[in-house]
Amino acid sequence: MIVIEETLFFSPHQDDETLSMGSAIIEHVEKSDTHVILCTDGSKSIIRKVLDDGGSCSYHIKDVHKYSLSESDFSKNRDEEFKDSCKAMGVKENNIHIENNRAHDGELSKDKAREIILKYLEKHPDAKVKTVTPYKALGIHEDHRALGEAALELYKEGKIKDLRFYVEPYDYNDFKKVNPNVRVWKVLSSQEEKLLNAMDAYKKWNPENGNYAIGYHSVKSHFDELKSNKIQYVHAP
Ligand SMILES: [Zn+2]
Ligand SMILES: [Zn+2]
Repeated sequence: MIVIEETLFFSPHQDDETLSMGSAIIEHVEKSDTHVILCTDGSKSIIRKVLDDGGSCSYHIKDVHKYSLSESDFSKNRDEEFKDSCKAMGVKENNIHIENNRAHDGELSKDKAREIILKYLEKHPDAKVKTVTPYKALGIHEDHRALGEAALELYKEGKIKDLRFYVEPYDYNDFKKVNPNVRVWKVLSSQEEKLLNAMDAYKKWNPENGNYAIGYHSVKSHFDELKSNKIQYVHAP
């Protein structure tokens, strides 16, 4: 019997999968049945207001921000960026999951994160699980922490058999300072082109067609850093 390896990537927000786990996703798509699961709706980003404030930004200097989106439309647009980015990394359409039971942005609790992870483990009990680290400095986003802690708990209970945590590259220096004893290793991107295309999905600016480059507006410097230094950081539980 041929056993196909399965891998589940859990992303707190639209863009975390690419910024913090993109190289790993690209690598795993090649060798396993790889799923990416989005765990919040990303609706609370300040960028919703920024897109409607009449100002401009360094990104598209000839245009002003005059785009008023409801929270749910904003969230839908972010979902499209997420899906396009996953597709660019080679994830099959059916393996890109906008979880129905996802949390509102900023409200992902450890219990909710457990529920979501368990739901996917039910279908894929032997899958390797990847998500963002629960260990970080004071600046950690609570949605990230909740997801990491839920995964760690499930690992300790034996429900996750193989777990890896990804450190957000933009927080790596801070992480090392606060967690000097956690052994972190680096993953280099083997297919830079795919990673760049995945990042581009968050940079699409075409308001007439509903593309607002929300990911890029919200964390431009994180995208720019990853572009110039395509390294990601992993540790074991
Ligand atoms: Zn995030
Ligand atoms: Zn702008």
